Amino acid sequence: MSPQSHPPRECQPCTQSVRSGIASDPTHGAVAPPLYLSSNFCFEGLEAPRSFDYTRSGNPTRAELEQAIARLEGGGGASGTGSGMAAVTLALHAFVTDRSLRGRRGKVIAQHDSYGGTHRLLTSLAEGGLFDLRFLDLSSPEGLDALDRDQADLIWVETPSNPLLRVTDIEAVAERAGDARVLVDNTFLSPALQNPLALGADLVLHSTTKSLNGHSDIVGGALVAKTREDAETADWWCNCLGLGQSPFDSYLVLRGMRTLHARWAVHERNANLLAERLVAHPAVERVYYPGLRSHPGHGLARRQQRGFGAIISLEIAGGKTGVRRLVEDLELFCLAESLGGVESLVSHPATMTHAAMDPEARRRAGITDGLVRLAVGIEAVEDLVADIERGLERVRRAA
Ligand code: PLP
Repeated sequence: MSPQSHPPRECQPCTQSVRSGIASDPTHGAVAPPLYLSSNFCFEGLEAPRSFDYTRSGNPTRAELEQAIARLEGGGGASGTGSGMAAVTLALHAFVTDRSLRGRRGKVIAQHDSYGGTHRLLTSLAEGGLFDLRFLDLSSPEGLDALDRDQADLIWVETPSNPLLRVTDIEAVAERAGDARVLVDNTFLSPALQNPLALGADLVLHSTTKSLNGHSDIVGGALVAKTREDAETADWWCNCLGLGQSPFDSYLVLRGMRTLHARWAVHERNANLLAERLVAHPAVERVYYPGLRSHPGHGLARRQQRGFGAIISLEIAGGKTGVRRLVEDLELFCLAESLGGVESLVSHPATMTHAAMDPEARRRAGITDGLVRLAVGIEAVEDLVADIERGLERVRRAA
C-alpha cells in the first residue's frame, strides 16, 4: 500500500486510527480500503516481483494494519501475528532463543504476574533449556533493585499487570536495562492510553484480540519495534516461522481500530464510575483499579498513562463460593475469557485466564480463589452498575 494511505504524521493519534487506509484505493476510489485475500501475487516478469509475492511473507491488508499500529505506538515497524501468543513466540524467538541456539544461552527476566499464557510459555521453554528465566515483581522497588544486579537479553514487562493491575515504571526499568531489550505488553491499555516506546521500551506487544480490534470476533497479535532494524529482524522471523495474521483478520482489526479512541472514552468513564461504586459494597473485600487513589500504582499510572483502563479486579467475600453466587446471577456481564471488547465480561482468573499457572505461582502473584476480573464494556453504565449490584446483593445475603 502506498504511504499516502495514512494521514500526515502530525495528525493526532485519534485521526491516525480513524483514517488508516481510508481512500487509498487507486482502482475504484473505495473509501474503505480493499481486502486482499489472495495468497499470492503475479510477478511483473522473471525476477521482477511486485511489492508482495506471497501472503505468508507479506500482504497489502496486513501491511496496512502493521503500519497503522506502528504509527500509533511510534515504532519503526510492526509484525501482525495470528494471535497474541504468536507475537510472544516471535519476540522470544527473534530476541532470545535465536541466541541460545547459536551457542550463547539467552536470559529473560519477566514480570512475575504476566498473563497466564505468557507465564506458561516462558516457564516451559526455560524448563526445556532454551534460555534462563527469572521472575521478578518489577512494580516493586526490590524488583527494580534486582534488575541493577542482573543482566538479561530481554526484560518482559506487563503494565498494568493481569489481573491485579500492578503498575510498573517503564522508564525506571529502561534505565536499569543495560544491554537488555525492554518489551512491554501493552494489551491492557492499547496505544490510546500508553506508549511504552516513548518511555524507553524497545518492543511493544499486543494481543489485538482485545481492544485494538474491540469486537471479540478475531484472535490476533502484533509486535512493534522501536528501531527499523529490530522490526526487520522480527519480520524476517515472522515469515520464517509462519506466524503472520490472515488478511481477513487483519482487515477486521484495522476496521476495529477506527473507533479505538471513541471506545476508550466510554470504557474509561464506565470503569471509573463502577470502581467508585464497588469500593463501598459490603460483599467486596477489595477493589483493584489504578484509577482509585487508594491503589498503590495510582500516582505512577497518572504520570505514565493517559487513562486508567477498563479492567477492575475484585476480591469477593466468601471466596470461590461467593464468586459462584455472583457470576450465576449476572445478566449483562458474560462469564468469559478475554477483555477489551465492547461488551462487559467477568472472569475468574484462578480457574480461567491464570489456570495455566501452578498454584504456588498464583499464590505468589496474589491471585486468590475469591478474585474476579471485570472487563468493563461500553454499555450504559447504570445498567452495568445494576447488574453487578444485583449479583453482589446475592453474595451479601448468603454470607
Ligand atoms: N497478553 C495479554 C496481556 C493477554 O491478556 C493475552 C490474552 O489474554 C495475551 C497476551 C495472549 O493473546 P492471545 O489470546 O491473542 O493469543
